[in-house]
Amino acid sequence: MSTLYRHLPSMDQVLEGATGDGDIAGLPRSLVKQHASAFLDLCREEIRSGVITDPTGLSLEVLLPRLKAYVRSHSRPHFRRVLNATGVVVHTNLGRSLLAKPAIEAVAEACGHYSNCEFDLATGKRGSRYSHVEQILCDITGAEAALVVNNNAAAVFIMLETLAKGKEVVVSRGQLVEIGGSFRIPDVMAKSGATLREVGATNRTHVYDYENAIGDETGALMRVHTSNFRVVGFTKEVGLAEMRALGDKYGLPVIEDLGSGSLYSLEGEGLLGEPTVQQVVAQGADVVSFSGDKVLGGPQAGIIVGRKEYIDRIKKNPVNRAMRIDKMTLAALEATLRLYLDMDEARRKVPTLRMITASKESLKAKARRLADAIRDELGDVAVVGLKKGVSRVGGGAFPEYDLPGTMVTFAANGISADDLREALLDTDPPLVARIEDDVFLLDARTLTSTELKLAASALKQAVDGLNKG
Ligand SMILES: *Cc1c(COP(=O)(O)O)cnc(C)c1O
Repeated sequence: MSTLYRHLPSMDQVLEGATGDGDIAGLPRSLVKQHASAFLDLCREEIRSGVITDPTGLSLEVLLPRLKAYVRSHSRPHFRRVLNATGVVVHTNLGRSLLAKPAIEAVAEACGHYSNCEFDLATGKRGSRYSHVEQILCDITGAEAALVVNNNAAAVFIMLETLAKGKEVVVSRGQLVEIGGSFRIPDVMAKSGATLREVGATNRTHVYDYENAIGDETGALMRVHTSNFRVVGFTKEVGLAEMRALGDKYGLPVIEDLGSGSLYSLEGEGLLGEPTVQQVVAQGADVVSFSGDKVLGGPQAGIIVGRKEYIDRIKKNPVNRAMRIDKMTLAALEATLRLYLDMDEARRKVPTLRMITASKESLKAKARRLADAIRDELGDVAVVGLKKGVSRVGGGAFPEYDLPGTMVTFAANGISADDLREALLDTDPPLVARIEDDVFLLDARTLTSTELKLAASALKQAVDGLNKG
């Protein structure tokens, strides 16, 4: 075995061989060297463990293709595009919402040029970065004032820190939610300096529960969207109108964390039970916060709308400076919001809304096109079929609703669904799909039409890789 090590090519030989390749030649030499060295370590490990047992397996000719593939895959940028065939539209792990085309163009314009980001073109003096989106947010939601911070978690924090620090905030036990990424209402509340005053029982909270808790220490009444869970059965939550009445009676602000929030009513799609931001504002919430990149379909942002006296106080909070959004977000958000000036245009042009509201017929046609693309790529190797199934909105919105559609089932001789899933993490681009009852499923709802061919190509790469390995 020890003599085998001597047959390993030298670093110089390996480097010379690798940089003969067009793609690799363009990479920084230090990076190629680092990965080539790791590759040689891998070969030594293979000798040690008996995977490589004779010198022919160590010739440059044999090693070079592997080395090139290794260097290529390890020196790719870490942040990569991924194909989402999971059918979860607002998939937080995969980057939530795709921006609409006008928003993508606005981002490119904003980041490649100087702009009036904080410059008032009417006076030639310093301006406010919020001026770009405040009016349009008010126009769409009917609120008096608006503010945007980095994300909705920040929005919840700054609302509480501004309006209720050192005071009590009354919240129903049924709404003390933890969403993914360890964001829990009680913890955020504690960090904001407000004291949580839980009322009611997990399943039922009444107006008198809130009222009994109100005292000199009370700073606000709060409602939280329960996002990813539902309390079902014998339940009661106090509606916003009743909260508003209590707020008026005791002179307290009513704060609402809407979670995803939507500017477009999805009731027409049969998705019930989640009021739009417009409805919550109309029903009298004083301050409402929601995400920019969940169902709204814009960039990551936390949007706060509501009564001017409260929004003004939040704007002046020094913490606001630490949560401010950048010019790319502003550009993307304004462009996305402009689409909402015509709700029908929003539904057609905001990818998140388009995916959620896609018709069964269009989903079936798309699944057929994906199946055809896969057959074109893989021929007889693939066993492809269509099957009814469901997608999800994601992002904590409408958790109890299935979005019916057509799935593509995929199998290739002798390859397990799990092996396939793993191999697809390393294709170009990687593809994430679902496995249900051991069947590998692709949901084309969350693939754009130009991605169908890429998905087929990823499957081909994965199957080829597994057949070779
Ligand atoms: C998603 C969510 C948040 C956090 O929003 P981000 O935009 O992810 O920061 C806060 N509250 C609720 C109820 C949510 O659903």
